[in-house]
Amino acid sequence: MQQKLNSTHLKSLCDFRHQLHSLPELSGNEKQTAVLITERLSKLRNINRITNVGGYGILAIADSGKKGKTVVFRADMDALPIKEINGFEYKSQHEYISHTCGHDGHLTVLCGLAELLNKELPKSGKVILLFQPSEEDGKGASNVLNDAEFKNIEPDYVFAFHNLPGFPLKQVVIRDNVFSASVLSMIFKLQGKTSHAAEPENGINPAFAIAEIIFTIKELTNNDTDSEALFMATPVYSRIGEIAYGTSAAYGEIHYTFRAWENKLLEYHISNIKNEIATIAQKHQLILSTEVVDQFHSTSNHPSANQVLKQSCISNNIEYTEIEKPFRWGEDFGLFTQKFKGALFGIGAGENCPALHNADYDFPDEIIACGITIFQSISQLINK
Ligand SMILES: [Zn+2]
Ligand SMILES: [Zn+2]
Repeated sequence: MQQKLNSTHLKSLCDFRHQLHSLPELSGNEKQTAVLITERLSKLRNINRITNVGGYGILAIADSGKKGKTVVFRADMDALPIKEINGFEYKSQHEYISHTCGHDGHLTVLCGLAELLNKELPKSGKVILLFQPSEEDGKGASNVLNDAEFKNIEPDYVFAFHNLPGFPLKQVVIRDNVFSASVLSMIFKLQGKTSHAAEPENGINPAFAIAEIIFTIKELTNNDTDSEALFMATPVYSRIGEIAYGTSAAYGEIHYTFRAWENKLLEYHISNIKNEIATIAQKHQLILSTEVVDQFHSTSNHPSANQVLKQSCISNNIEYTEIEKPFRWGEDFGLFTQKFKGALFGIGAGENCPALHNADYDFPDEIIACGITIFQSISQLINK
């Protein structure tokens, strides 16, 4: 039986979401967030908890005690270094941090699901709720997957959703196979030698190599989002030398974010780019070093997981749409879908909702019940 949320429960979840919203924490620092969630879960007698999973992550387990499938539902915990400009009562209390990606809402949905599962355990198998830290920097999924507590779980299915501004409120957004892109951010560092600015010929200035790098990478890109071979290379930051007008620069660096639909294609391009840049550095007698800043594997949705998702939408009269193109952003949930059957899907946050990571964004509370209903229904369809 599908348990419905009553209005008192829903009100308490909205209040909880507002509390999380007012206390945002950056990736890897979700200490207070974990405390608030643990406190809420501690009231649930039938739900077991494991804390400090892959950092401040939490596992909440609803075990039927009977053989069956294990389904994992995941929500992300972290906020962003963005100054919120909203004026409502529950606005961020931390001036330069805000929940402008809506992870406060994703967490609330999992808490609501835990509360329903506490009242009615799954008929068979297990439902595991994963509160995952550090999504925004791409580190959380891999930290959780490498944690011994998570390694004990062998999920048959993994599911997660992200709210999506620009889509009709509560519309479920589905895509088989690639849902979000493979994204990698890298720094190229070039070390040369200073000299008097009047005698640049006595030094090794990286400026010209950096100019060459920019044009070389531009030639290798394919920004056609209709193409399977999409390869975007976005320069995000660069620095050359010091503000010292008597000195010819010795050091320079350039930061890029690269994206492709599939991991393999991204790896191919990056290895190519590394070779090209090594040749440029050598030509200019510069010492090259590279650093990967963060990485998001492409999310690959399993058609059988999407089938369950669609069925759950149909049986709950929730409208869904299947999109043609994947999203260009990265999601570290991709790493879960590389290992397990699963799906990441979207829930529309409304056509007029400010975009994710915008200073005036706020998760729409109207999505909370919809997210819980879908997750609950998926778990029931898998363990009938
Ligand atoms: Zn985000
Ligand atoms: Zn997000």
